[in-house]
Amino acid sequence: MLIEINSLYLDKDSIVRFKKVLSKIKNCYQDALRSSPIIVSKSDYLPKIYVIPFVRKIVLPDREIFVFNEVFPDPFEEKHAAFFISLLFPEVIEAKFVTAIFAHEFAHLIDLTRHPNRIKELWEKYKGNVGLIYNEFDQKATEYYRHFKEPVKSWLYELDEVPNKNRILNQVIESDAEVREFKDYIHEFPQYLKSKIKTS
Ligand SMILES: [Zn+2]
Repeated sequence: MLIEINSLYLDKDSIVRFKKVLSKIKNCYQDALRSSPIIVSKSDYLPKIYVIPFVRKIVLPDREIFVFNEVFPDPFEEKHAAFFISLLFPEVIEAKFVTAIFAHEFAHLIDLTRHPNRIKELWEKYKGNVGLIYNEFDQKATEYYRHFKEPVKSWLYELDEVPNKNRILNQVIESDAEVREFKDYIHEFPQYLKSKIKTS
């Protein structure tokens, strides 16, 4: 199946950078897909990848979360999920963790397929506390790691180890990353995604 990698959100300069990592993104996505449980690898729809020019920083009352990749509804077709990866991530991070970060999103997809109301349930459980919602949402994804094939399975667990997480975070942020802050990320980010469609 065709993998669609979209550069709609990038400007002229970042398109040049994007072209240099395009095949890396494609290969890593393909490896993540091949290692995925059958529910993903045999599904008849592949999430598109949108490359985002900045790193997202979610500012919460008690902490900050940096987001390099995640699953969100496709801005063009909301019934489908899409992946939104920051350009810097595949530029500075080694292929195995780029593969792992896509596999992590596939784990979210499996969870969301099985529990379509997951986000709503967590929202109610934690009364809109985004930090706690994020923690448990990610925890649910890790429960599917064991169904992935090696070596990607091991890379998934490695990606979640604190020293690796910190190293990746520092490597991205120190690479002169454009960081965009969000206070109400859940609403602001989809708005940003839609605003770009209108102006394109
Ligand atoms: Zn996650």
